[in-house]
Amino acid sequence: MDLRIVLLGPPGSGKGTQTERLVEEFGFTKISTGDLLREAVRNGTPLGKEAKGYMDAGKLVPDDLVVGLIKEKLEGVKGGVLLDGFPRSLEQAKKLEEFFHVEMAVDLDVDQEVLIKRLTERRSCRKCNAVFHLEFNPPKVPGICDKCGGELYQRSDDTEKVVRERFATYTERTAPLTEYYRQKGVLRSVDGMGPIDEVYKRIADVVREG
Ligand SMILES: [Zn+2]
Repeated sequence: MDLRIVLLGPPGSGKGTQTERLVEEFGFTKISTGDLLREAVRNGTPLGKEAKGYMDAGKLVPDDLVVGLIKEKLEGVKGGVLLDGFPRSLEQAKKLEEFFHVEMAVDLDVDQEVLIKRLTERRSCRKCNAVFHLEFNPPKVPGICDKCGGELYQRSDDTEKVVRERFATYTERTAPLTEYYRQKGVLRSVDGMGPIDEVYKRIADVVREG
């Protein structure tokens, strides 16, 4: 399908899984900024070397550099494209629009409180790193790993404070972004709650309408 699309959704919204399925069904070329960065660093390209400097210093790679990588990758790509991991802010969207016209921005509309609760119910094993979920995949004995008998704990990434901060950052950065796409008339909001298959069906219907 010949569409240039971005998928927007907060942490824990299942965006990664939905992206894979869209690529599979519609044959989009997926351009993932995370993959692009890793690839450029591995190949030692000029942009890759520059990016590595920032990453080694624990800094965010500047937008212009990421945009450069996307531009490079887009050369020679025909047909539909699904951008993954970019744009994440209004500034990035504007830079992108200079050379890549987004024809559809699908926004997964979720209940943040439900997602926060879900994300904070994960427990990991100290010994074997197996992951459990208090609601969807509970251990047989509370606090004990089914696989190795190790002690289960909550990773610092999964604590409510950290998860809430992640959502707050997401909302702060993407609210202006969705507004930008709304004004351009390309925003499609999709109900992102419920089973993965149902959410996917809603997204796919919207994409098919073009
Ligand atoms: Zn274990």
